[in-house]
Amino acid sequence: MNCCSEKPIIGLPSGEKLCKNHFIEYFENKVFKTIRQFELIGKEENLGIALSGGKDSLTVLHILNKLSRQNPKIRISAIAIDEGIAGYRDKTFETAKEYCSKNSIELHIFSYKEEFGLTLDEMLKILDVKPCTICGIFRRYLLNKKSRELKLTKLVTGHNLDDEAQSILMNQLKNNIQASARLGPKVGLMQDDKFVQRIKPLYLCPEKEVTTYAFLNGLLDNFTECPNVSQSFRAQVRDTLNSLEQKFPGTKYSIVNSFLQMLPFLKQQFKDEAIKVCAKCSEPSANDVCNACVYLEKLKKVVELK
Ligand code: SF4
Ligand SMILES: [Zn+2]
Ligand SMILES: [Zn+2]
Repeated sequence: MNCCSEKPIIGLPSGEKLCKNHFIEYFENKVFKTIRQFELIGKEENLGIALSGGKDSLTVLHILNKLSRQNPKIRISAIAIDEGIAGYRDKTFETAKEYCSKNSIELHIFSYKEEFGLTLDEMLKILDVKPCTICGIFRRYLLNKKSRELKLTKLVTGHNLDDEAQSILMNQLKNNIQASARLGPKVGLMQDDKFVQRIKPLYLCPEKEVTTYAFLNGLLDNFTECPNVSQSFRAQVRDTLNSLEQKFPGTKYSIVNSFLQMLPFLKQQFKDEAIKVCAKCSEPSANDVCNACVYLEKLKKVVELK
């Protein structure tokens, strides 16, 4: 069934076909509904949007910028991490910088080189480790630390329904259910001053819808993909899920929806997990020394770092 007499541009899982304007309205309503349903944003906030320059982070920034303009008590800024991946991050950063300057959004940029002394490319020449493993550890570390220093009330990420379905499945396949307890539209197991709460307003939006929204709003990057992505476990799971979705439409929704029903039990199960403080850097950590410091020590053995 078509929404109106305008030419439809996308078919929804329900069978409904939407034109450009009705799709934009549908998508934004879905994001605002997610925010209300999971109480992601309060009446007064100083939100930081983790901006990579890719379609997901630009989409969430675009929508929250609209929200912030309607409601001045919701302040927003963007926070970007330059890992130092030649030929990739420089391109996505151009898009991020351009969007922020056009829309008068403050953009904070922090880099691995400046904070840790080496770019990711340089680290990978030294360590025998999968790129995404250390990239993710250092990114989460910096995002949390810098968000806290910037006094952000929450850190917003562009994770969509596909990302969450992948994470759920990856944790199952690795028998890491404790990591799943930290998933959901509001990340983490408990509130702690050391952790800036991370939220995912695109939680219920499939990748296909995010891409369509980004395209219609001129937010689509040039499909620049990180050169390391093919080595990741996530890429394998993503491809498997995409092929399942093609054969059995609704697979990703089913994974996330059934997970949401289990999530309160998982959070309850692991709620007493104590957050320790890293003995070296005082950042929050699951172990005595945080993963970032463990890898920095390994790097220090080879090169002189600050
Ligand atoms: S694909 Fe992996 S290496 Fe590339 S930016 Fe993402 S986490 Fe980092
Ligand atoms: Zn229409
Ligand atoms: Zn540490």
